[in-house]
Amino acid sequence: MIYKRSSALFAEAEKVIPGGVNSPVRAFKGVGGTPIFVKEAKGAYLFDEDDNRLIDYINSWGPMILGHAYQPVVDAVVEKAKKGTSFGMPTEIETKIAELAVSMVPNIDKIRFVNSGTEACMSAVRLARGYTKKDKIIKFAGCYHGHSDSFLIQAGSGASTFGVPNSPGVTAGTAKDTLLANYNDIENVKALIEANKNEIACIIIEPVAGNMGCVPPKNDFLAKLRLLCDEHDILLIFDEVMTGFRLAKGGAQELYNIKADIVCFGKVIGGGLPVGAFAAKNEIMNYLAPLGPVYQAGTLSGNPLAMAAGLAMLTALNKDGEVFKRLANKTEYLHNGIANVLNENNITHTINRVGSMISVHFDEAEVVDFKTAALGNNETFKTFFHGMLNNGVYIAPSAFETWFITDALSYEDLDFTIAAVNKVAKTL
Ligand code: PMP
Repeated sequence: MIYKRSSALFAEAEKVIPGGVNSPVRAFKGVGGTPIFVKEAKGAYLFDEDDNRLIDYINSWGPMILGHAYQPVVDAVVEKAKKGTSFGMPTEIETKIAELAVSMVPNIDKIRFVNSGTEACMSAVRLARGYTKKDKIIKFAGCYHGHSDSFLIQAGSGASTFGVPNSPGVTAGTAKDTLLANYNDIENVKALIEANKNEIACIIIEPVAGNMGCVPPKNDFLAKLRLLCDEHDILLIFDEVMTGFRLAKGGAQELYNIKADIVCFGKVIGGGLPVGAFAAKNEIMNYLAPLGPVYQAGTLSGNPLAMAAGLAMLTALNKDGEVFKRLANKTEYLHNGIANVLNENNITHTINRVGSMISVHFDEAEVVDFKTAALGNNETFKTFFHGMLNNGVYIAPSAFETWFITDALSYEDLDFTIAAVNKVAKTL
């Protein structure tokens, strides 16, 4: 494929935007080469500035679960925009989407909307600290909760891709309040709690990790965390920015039947516009300003265009009783197809999958945490990535990311993808 115009646009962008991108993982640093500039997208396909058609397995890193330019979302945004784009005053649509979200997700009474997943997680942790009157938090190596200071300690996603899981600029004072545990290692969590008795406000976790590739919780890990939190008066925060409105209507809480104390959302909840949210029972949410003492705010929070997009998206997901099953079936089909082809070509690999999240790791070992995720052969991944791209399939430009399956993918698209894997496997 030809990427002449994309390369030229990237060279221009590099002059005025650091690294030419507004979010690091877009820069292709992990895989080499120059990023592709998108002109437009529809359904399962991206069309780039060189007029290549690519099947998209990133889908804006999750939000486009029903495909690009999904008509009800586009219509809702266009109609709203005609009536004004921001007021900084309450609007009815905020209550509508809040009511719908509260009806879809278990264990929440109230929800507060923000502008990104980062803001949602950052605000949830502040609320947990204020509510429990404790300072320390536990996070898991390889989990990513946005770029707020407290979370840039062994963070996954772009932070891992660039080898800077601990960012300069995060003070030692902040870092000391973030305790680090290994995903799926309950003994490790217990030891941290013992060593920091009565000091831990919350445990924040991706209930299915998606930022070190896809890593499912194993052996009742989430249930055991719930028990530990109850025993020690610690709040359990599910970061459902990826899993929310993706794995089920009620997200991972519903799929695994585990109650979280605070739930964070992003991505799908905004239908592709900048939205995040955090939610909990009344007792906790009423601790938030203006009702309670924990401060949190936003000029553009609850923005009408963003709320219109989110409401159209959640309405579609809520109405369609089969959508999550259909997504899981498509993902399973892709999993089986890729596994067969890689096996036939004797390529060492592990595939992890939950619902419509899937990742291919070029390593034999089971991938259960950050250490095992990091064992994957990055050279093989780079060749795989570029091979897929040259065959018209766009996957995340990093081995530490999940692929997001969209309902817009047809079985022909999946077969096309599996055939591409077969071609690329010969070159690995
Ligand atoms: N939490 C998780 C689980 C995420 O995957 C992400 C983003 N990939 C975030 C939080 C941060 O969201 P945002 O990029 O919207 O700030």
